[in-house]
Amino acid sequence: MEREEDINQVFEIPFAKRTYLRNSNSKLFVRTLLISPFLVLFFSFAGLTLNRFVSNEDKRLLGHLPYPEISKDKLVFIEPNIEVHIDMRESLLKMREEAKKDGVYLVFLSGYRSTNLQKDIFYSLKSIRNQIASERARVSAPPGYSEHSTGFAIDIGDYMQRDTDFEVEFEDTDAFEWLQRHAAKYHFKLSFNKNNKYIDYEPWHWRYEGSIEALKVFENSNRKSK
Ligand SMILES: [Zn+2]
Repeated sequence: MEREEDINQVFEIPFAKRTYLRNSNSKLFVRTLLISPFLVLFFSFAGLTLNRFVSNEDKRLLGHLPYPEISKDKLVFIEPNIEVHIDMRESLLKMREEAKKDGVYLVFLSGYRSTNLQKDIFYSLKSIRNQIASERARVSAPPGYSEHSTGFAIDIGDYMQRDTDFEVEFEDTDAFEWLQRHAAKYHFKLSFNKNNKYIDYEPWHWRYEGSIEALKVFENSNRKSK
């Protein structure tokens, strides 16, 4: 008999504990269970926002994203003074050929620019125009922050209207109209459109996104502009 009583006591202890827990904590438990999906969502969202802030905003300098300088062995000359990334040569030349068939004459103004050249452009033009760095950055990238150093950027003019080279008025040329309609076919995209909040509109400046390497290079920029 004594043994049986012992056994009953052993069984009763956990039963009593369970009852106690259910009475005091069940409401809290149910509430936690109900809001937990929202908590998970909230922290995921907060984490993503923070991550985007850190990975994009912090790297910008005067509104420009940093770009690596392409290695020399990936550059090819498409004209005596214009080098581009080898991946985009074919597409770029094809685009010019097709434009010509439509009576539109594209002129390539500037392709790859080394970080050193970009340094000269940024600082010399800044002093000529007597601008402070933040003003200058709206129209020219600081060295190390130019799409031109990747070899995937090209500045384009209209052969019939050379006075619009590097000018916003380029948007009124046949060349620009043609590019707007056809450039995507050749994997070219306008880098700085009218909606860009950091950098002035540059209708002449296009970038190539037709290779994995190019897409990786511009991934941050594309994510940001969404
Ligand atoms: Zn450019």
